[in-house]
Formats: sequence, structure tokens, C-alpha cells
Amino acid sequence: MSGTCVIAGGGPAGAVLGLLLARSGVEVTLLEKHKDFLRDFRGDTLHPSTLQVMDELGLADRVEALPHRKTSALWLWTDEGAVQLVSLKGLRSKYPYIAFVPQWDFLNLVTEAAKEYPNFRLLMEAEVTGLIREDGAARGVRYRDASGEHELRATLTVGADGRGSQVRRAAGLVPVERGAPMDVVWFRLPRDPGDFEDTFLRISAGGLMVAINRETYWQLAYVIPKGAFEELKARGVEDLRASVARLIPFLAGRTGELEGFGDVGVLRVALNRLRRWYRPGLLMIGDAAHAMSPVFGVGINLAVQDAVAAANVIAEPLRAGHVPVELLRKVQRRRTPPTVITQYAQQLVQNRLIRPALAGSGAPSRIPVPPSGLPIVGDLARRFIGLGILPEHVRTRPPGG
Ligand SMILES: Cc1cc2nc3c(=O)[nH]c(=O)nc-3n(C[C@H](O)[C@H](O)[C@H](O)COP(=O)(O)OP(=O)(O)OC[C@H]3O[C@@H](n4cnc5c(N)ncnc54)[C@H](O)[C@@H]3O)c2cc1C
Repeated sequence: MSGTCVIAGGGPAGAVLGLLLARSGVEVTLLEKHKDFLRDFRGDTLHPSTLQVMDELGLADRVEALPHRKTSALWLWTDEGAVQLVSLKGLRSKYPYIAFVPQWDFLNLVTEAAKEYPNFRLLMEAEVTGLIREDGAARGVRYRDASGEHELRATLTVGADGRGSQVRRAAGLVPVERGAPMDVVWFRLPRDPGDFEDTFLRISAGGLMVAINRETYWQLAYVIPKGAFEELKARGVEDLRASVARLIPFLAGRTGELEGFGDVGVLRVALNRLRRWYRPGLLMIGDAAHAMSPVFGVGINLAVQDAVAAANVIAEPLRAGHVPVELLRKVQRRRTPPTVITQYAQQLVQNRLIRPALAGSGAPSRIPVPPSGLPIVGDLARRFIGLGILPEHVRTRPPGG
């Protein structure tokens, strides 16, 4: 008898896993609590590793057709001037750039591709509220939609419901917090064609911003000390406008476009991971297994890589009707090194760069910029940002394929 899979959460991890399993002939139901995929100020960065996965799935042309902007270089701008931090141009990949694609477009694309398989079902406005448990194993989920409460039984349940995971809570899994010194305030300001071209990190003693070129506007991330958003609000929008103008003077004439705090989104940064990503009949992936810091902007890519690794291991046994717990352990073993190494690197940047800058002690001249003359440093940085640790490749096949 063919096995079934229920996935909680239609973010990058859940949507990509749903597509991969459906393509492999597994009966999949993906449950998403929102009515659409519209989210402003979410991760919009598709790195070369994710673009490669989309290529392997035969979806590269569809990604290319989405509205997006490609960036090959990331810059660091201190009070002493701008230096290129990393360039992806020399990366050995068909896709040596980061594509800024609105996350809802990406998720629509992936779920539309999944819907081409009759064995894929997407339930929107369906919120998972708990797990069905029998004989010590997860056997599916309970969920709520407009028509009431329901149960959905499955051979395998996947928790891909993000950093506030309900599935994780229901399974009694608790992530270990690794700490983050900052939160991030997101907003946008108009972009002029004559502005700086590439995405950059602006750092100065007492201030830190990331500016992402979205063609007609700048997507701006203003970094604040952890928990300081209420304080920022109390100081008023004029204070925020003045900080932006001080850090990025070419935006000074445009800060008035930021009308108030209704125009901003806040990311309460978390960095954590589960010790154990599975239980019998249950697997956790993506942010639900390991919330990533926004440093390097790789959260989506790790989520997608988890989905590919999981599908590679479980698709065949799932189709055959049984996924032993050793295989779930194998998925965690495969994805733990990339998660841990990336989180250590994020912690390093948080502690060495962000914390001192926020404390006002990060004298720009003391910022450790990698020596650009050393090709090995450039190449390692390119591979780390572009492809990540242990990049995954799609090994699943359509039945009979
Ligand atoms: C403001 C912001 C900016 C970011 N910037 C970047 C960036 O530039 N680059 C980058 O790579 N990453 C970025 N990230 C991180 C990135 O968005 C996440 O790491 C990535 O989306 C994780 O994917 P996921 O599928 O694991 O979880 P999520 O994207 O969180 O998806 C989880 C999904 O589950 C749904 N859900 C939650 N609970 C339930 C439930 N009970 N039942 C059903 N559905 C449920 C949610 O609605 C959501 O659709 C950012 C995150 C935020 C919040």
C-alpha cells in the first residue's frame, strides 16, 4: 500500500518537500494556515543552491520568468568607504548570483508545479492544531478550517510550520536557544536610478543597516538591539528617519516617505535548533527545526536544502508505505553539519560585528574585512554564501522515471 504524507506549513521547506514527494508519486497534503502566500518583508533571496534545485526540477525557466533582480556582489560600507565583501561571479555554478524573488511568487510557483500531480493536495486556511498519536508514533494531524475541526491521518507527518511551530510544541520538542543580540526593523524607501547599484551592509559605530536594491525601491533592514523596538517607537519616527539619513546620506531627502511605524515590519531574531528533529512518524525541517539568524540571508536556502535532503531519503520508502525511524535520523544527520556550521558563522558575525556596532564601540576601522587579495578567502566566502555547506541535489525520480 502506498504511504501518505501530511506537511504542516506552506513555507519554502514545506512547499518544496510537497512538490518533491508529489513528483515521486507519494500522496501528499500540504496544510497552510494563511489564505495566500503574501508576506511582506520575508526572506526573498534565492541563492545559487536553490536556483540549482529549481533547475534540477525543470523549473528554472519559470523562476526566470518571475519578476526579480540578480545580484552578484555584496558590499560593506563603513565610514571609511565601501569595499566589496564577496562576489559570486567566480562561483562554479550555472547560477553565480542571488535572485531577489518575492517569496509569495516563489511559493506560488512551487505549489502550482506541485498541483500538476493529481496526488498533491494543498489546503489553504487550514491551521494545524495538534498531532494524532497512537502507540507512541505520530499518525497525522488535527487541523482547523472555516468548516471546523478535522483529522488527517498519514504515514508520515512533517512539521515545516516555521519558527513558532505548533507541530514541534505538540510533539514536545523544544529548541535550544543560541541567542541573538539584535532584532531587525524592515521598511522601504524609493530608489533613484542613480543610486548605488548593489546590495550593501552599512556599518558605523552605533548603527547598522542592510540595503537591498529592489529596482524601484530600497528594502531596508535597520538593526536594533534585542527587544528595543518599543523604545525605538517611543522615540518617534523622526528619530528613525534621522538615523537612516545619518547612515545612508543619499536617502536623506527621501526619509519623509516613511510615514510612521505602520510602514515597518519587525523581525524578532531567533537562532536556535532542535537536538532531535524526529519522532516515530514525524520529521521537523526548516525553521521549525532550526531558526536561522538573518545574517547571510540563508534561511530560505537551508529550508529548501532540508526539503531536498528529506525527499532524497524518504520518498521511496514512503511510497512503499513505511518510513523507519532510522531514515528520519539519517535526514537529521545529513542536515546537522550545514545547520551547525552556518549558525556558528552567524554567531561569529553577531558577536564580532553586530554586537560591538550596536553598542557604539564598533570603530569602523577595526571591522575585520576579509583580505581581498587572498583568493582562497574569496573562494570560500563565495561557496559558503552561494552554495552553503553540503549542497543537496535532487535524487528523487517520478515513479518509473
Ligand atoms: C522579516 C524576515 C526577513 C527574512 N529575510 C531573509 C532573507 O533575506 N533571506 C533568507 O534566506 N531568509 C530570510 N528570512 C528567513 C526565512 O524567511 C526563513 O528562514 C524561511 O522562510 C524558513 O522557511 P520555512 O519553510 O522553514 O518556514 P516559514 O517560511 O516560516 O514557513 C512556515 C509556514 O507555515 C505556516 N504555518 C505556521 N503555523 C502553521 C500551522 N499551525 N498550520 C499550518 N500552517 C502553519 C506559516 O504561515 C508559513 O507559511 C527572513 C525571515 C523574516 C521573518
